[in-house]
Amino acid sequence: MTFNNLIAGEWVGGNASENRSPSDTNDVVGLYAQGTPDDMRAAIAAAKAAFPAWSRSGILERHAILKKTGDEILARKEELGTLLAREEGKTLPEAIGETIRAAQIFDFFAGECLRLAGESLPSVRPGIGVEITREPIGPIGLITPWNFPIAIPAWKIAPALCYGNTVVLKPAELVPGCAWAIADILHRAGLPKGVFNLVMGKGSVIGQVMLDSPDLAGISFTGSVGTGKRVALSSIEHGRKYQLEMGGKNPFVILDDADLSVAVEASLNSCFFSTGQRCTASSRLIVTEGIHDRFVAALVERLKSVTVDNALKAGTHIGPVVDERQLMQDIDYIDIGRSEGAKLAFGGERLNRETPGFYLQPALFTEASNQMRISREEIFGPVASVIRVKNYEEALSVANDTPFGLSSGIATTSLKHATHFRRNAEAGMVMVNLPTAGVDFHVPFGGRKGSSFGPREQGRYAAEFFTTVKTQYTLA
Ligand code: NAD
Repeated sequence: MTFNNLIAGEWVGGNASENRSPSDTNDVVGLYAQGTPDDMRAAIAAAKAAFPAWSRSGILERHAILKKTGDEILARKEELGTLLAREEGKTLPEAIGETIRAAQIFDFFAGECLRLAGESLPSVRPGIGVEITREPIGPIGLITPWNFPIAIPAWKIAPALCYGNTVVLKPAELVPGCAWAIADILHRAGLPKGVFNLVMGKGSVIGQVMLDSPDLAGISFTGSVGTGKRVALSSIEHGRKYQLEMGGKNPFVILDDADLSVAVEASLNSCFFSTGQRCTASSRLIVTEGIHDRFVAALVERLKSVTVDNALKAGTHIGPVVDERQLMQDIDYIDIGRSEGAKLAFGGERLNRETPGFYLQPALFTEASNQMRISREEIFGPVASVIRVKNYEEALSVANDTPFGLSSGIATTSLKHATHFRRNAEAGMVMVNLPTAGVDFHVPFGGRKGSSFGPREQGRYAAEFFTTVKTQYTLA
């Protein structure tokens, strides 16, 4: 079976491409249609045509469709989680967790449909009333990356539809399966034709058509800094709203007074779970002198008990890297780290497993400096460096010395330092005694500096991007 694109309520075929599992390159997940520029143009036209009616649709209709979608995703969590693990390579428990999260996001925004509110206040001029309302912005393009194949599409689609916008989704080439599953569920949930459209295929081809379109009122993008810049430039050109979630080089600070096991477990999770392929992953462990050697010894010991294997296998802690290209990039950075003078304290070797895949032993560098390329550039793999510092003040300064600012963390038992760090970390999210990754769906998500641009995603803050405010004056 070929999985086709959804355009104006119809499943549209064409050339298809194989989706193979990074855990087992003999495992073909499915054949997925590769959209053409004309498909993308048709999808945008469909979203534009469907907007007037959908923007005025009743809140109960929107609520019912989003609720039904969330319910079906949840009911099928094992099956969809398995699909996700197969196509992206995170472990089955991680993939099922992500699937549950996607369901919860639809559920949350199903509720938000019923809580759309405005403000009513008197004008400064007597006898005049002022009402402030939020309206949908129009047809919106959503461009998503490969590392959260079901959660990221969900956290853009659900608020877009909740607030009355229509959608064209362009998922990452490597993971069309989860996006197709969401499209299928939304379609069967009763969404009117053209309200949600899916076009799968190459970013440089059909993604670019989306950027060049004058008919989209907004683009919400998650992915690399390079593509994000293209989204920004094209959006300025077309005068459209845009939102960017991009890279990270997230610091995790470990102070002398940290609980060692809390620091080690949080570091292991931050740096290596989901194969280090999370934008919120930490790749810089900034450790003060008094605990440095004990911390490194304990983390290396802990890494020895970690199993890297097929994402579907019980007992796997870390699945494969997503594809050959990303694996080569990770290995290149490991070579760069060595040549820059950092010491490889653990791992870094390509591994062979029963099934042919892209397996990499997690790599931990020590004796790294914050000026090395491995400390400045996003690697996006299971590769982390330990940077030794004298004290808290130096740790904070190193933590903030980065072009990025998505997430940051600290392990400490000092209320004074935790409080100061929460206030002074230059990041959108701060974690105390918790991994830098692992965030809730009902609260804002996003960063600052080179990591993000535009309003926050998720929770009620999503309304900032997916609606526009209208201020109405009426003579009473
Ligand atoms: P990418 O930029 O290569 O691709 C992202 C999306 O953009 C894909 O759908 C791709 O097809 C599309 N695209 C590529 N070229 C395009 C073009 N010319 N026009 C329009 N669309 C185009 O990124 P990726 O490799 O899929 O994802 C990894 C990156 O995503 C990492 O940098 C990671 O940090 C980032 N990320 C950020 C967050 C966050 O919330 N900050 C979350 C997840 C991933």
